[in-house]
Amino acid sequence: MALIVQKYGGTSVGSVERLQAVAQRVQKAARSGNGVVVVVSAMGKTTDGLVKLAAEISTNPCRREMDMLLSTGEQVSIALLSMALQEAGQPAISMTGAQVGIVTEAHHTRARILNIQTDRVERHLNEGKVVVVAGFQGIASAGDLEITTLGRGGSDTSAVALAAALKADRCEIYTDVPGILTTDPRLVPEAQLMAEITCDEMLELASLGAKVLHPRAVEIARNYGVKLLVRSSWTDDPGTLVTSPMPMARPLEGLELVRPVDAVEFDTDQAKIALLRVPDCPGVAAKLFGAIASQKLDVDLIVQSIHEGNTNDIAFTIARGTAEAAEAVAAAIAPTLGPATVENTAEVLVDRDIAKISIAGAGMIGRPGVAAQMFSALADAQVNIQMIATSEVKLSCVIDAEDSDRAIAALCETFEVSTSPLTQVPEAVVPPVQAPPVRGVALDRNQARLAIRQIPDRPGMAARIFNLLAEHNISVDTIVQSQRCRIVGDCPTRDIAFTVAQADAETARQLLEPLAREIGCLDVVVDTAVAKVSIVGAGMEGQPGVAAKLFDALAQNHINIQMITTSEIKISCVVDEAQGATALQVIHAAFELSGTQKVVVPA
Ligand code: ADP
Ligand code: ASP
Ligand code: MG
Repeated sequence: MALIVQKYGGTSVGSVERLQAVAQRVQKAARSGNGVVVVVSAMGKTTDGLVKLAAEISTNPCRREMDMLLSTGEQVSIALLSMALQEAGQPAISMTGAQVGIVTEAHHTRARILNIQTDRVERHLNEGKVVVVAGFQGIASAGDLEITTLGRGGSDTSAVALAAALKADRCEIYTDVPGILTTDPRLVPEAQLMAEITCDEMLELASLGAKVLHPRAVEIARNYGVKLLVRSSWTDDPGTLVTSPMPMARPLEGLELVRPVDAVEFDTDQAKIALLRVPDCPGVAAKLFGAIASQKLDVDLIVQSIHEGNTNDIAFTIARGTAEAAEAVAAAIAPTLGPATVENTAEVLVDRDIAKISIAGAGMIGRPGVAAQMFSALADAQVNIQMIATSEVKLSCVIDAEDSDRAIAALCETFEVSTSPLTQVPEAVVPPVQAPPVRGVALDRNQARLAIRQIPDRPGMAARIFNLLAEHNISVDTIVQSQRCRIVGDCPTRDIAFTVAQADAETARQLLEPLAREIGCLDVVVDTAVAKVSIVGAGMEGQPGVAAKLFDALAQNHINIQMITTSEIKISCVVDEAQGATALQVIHAAFELSGTQKVVVPA
């Protein structure tokens, strides 16, 4: 007998008829001799409706009361599904998060799961009952047994966490699409179904806007080796398997908090090439990286910083052995990039004495404290950061090569891990040869860009900024520092820009303005009219030309790129919000990800 956790989303339980159809599917699994735990979301758009009601009463409702309100949606669907099962002759019992013992932190509206008491669920399973659990909610252990919620979309996380705690054979996520697709079918109906995707790729896609899975659900599946499937609620098709490597043994205590960092990695065989003052218009990145790709040179990290006047800086890293060839291409291309004036001439800088230091793990964007800890450890070791690359599975900093031993020691001590050089990746984690360079494309329209201008260029500045945001649980992505130093008084300064969720933008600005004044920066600028479009694929490493193709697709459609950041398995561009959907569509087409059939998403 297998133990299966099944999760049904809002649309799948959106009406009495749909609840009855779910009951039949659940009963079929139970009748085949399996133990079945079902996690359900609130019916249809119930949670959105509750959020709207709260907004009619308060512009800034108390988080505790929001949890009291939003947790009611799931209580309706568990009771109704349990009744539907009983009506069909299947013994069943519904349970709230608190009744199960889904114990969380005390952070209202965004609690992480600390542990799950499995005894009562197991007892009911042994009695032959299907256990129907309310998703998205838990109970804070500390003090007053407060009801908490896990954050919007969090029922996926409840399901995978239950599967990990119960050591279930698999976790099946049933939803309104056939599985994980190359992009959101609501924006590209020809998006294709994937038979498989790795956890790392899915974690990036989910965090970059593909809401088919809650990123924290993928994180738990990866960390505990849960077999995770995403399937349609309307058919018996197999859907998508999210694959994970053999996980390291982990305690179930502290489930979502334990050990975000698995390893410290370093690569001391890189050089950095920066182009300063390139024109801020569509086509510049395409031309530069097109020329580099045509020489078959494989770039690693790329960043494009925010506008300074009407020019940008672009910097990239590349294996040191190919730096000379890349420099020659950059030098040849720089004068052709656009109209240059005396004070506005593109300049190429090469630094051969750099090192890339990374921490690897899962869920690093979702845990803002991790980046802040990394920057603090480097600041305490007096290491200045030249470039930052963020992703859910890796945070990398480019630093002076002579600082690398100190940096590695500081990071190993901070995160209590040992090192592995990037250049000696163990065979098991090398992506299979057939891994496509681009697995999927995602769009996030809920982002805002913040820029802090003229930050003194000395160790510790990034640490102060991101520690402050982390203390207020604000996740930061797409962090970009300008390559150019502007001398203000006697002090060299740089700008740092980054993106946060739109809902956090105003709080972030209010927190950062006093800090910016204290450390002597010029100002904090917020832009909420931005969108982030990203490509993700484990096969893009070692494949020259992927970035060039992405930039070219945007250039051909006259879409200006405001910021670029990359990691080993993703490239993200920040563009104007109004062009976000078009950007997604043209990129999806450029990588030939469309199929011949259209996916229709039921209302
Ligand atoms: P549920 O209520 O079942 O949890 P969600 O609305 O949270 O469902 O997630 C499913 C939706 O995710 C789909 O209807 C689709 O619009 C959207 N989506 C975004 N990106 C993708 C993708 N890459 N693959 C599949 N669906 C996606
Ligand atoms: N009902 C919650 C929401 O709409 C949780 C979920 O559906 O996953 O966000
Ligand atoms: Mg969902």
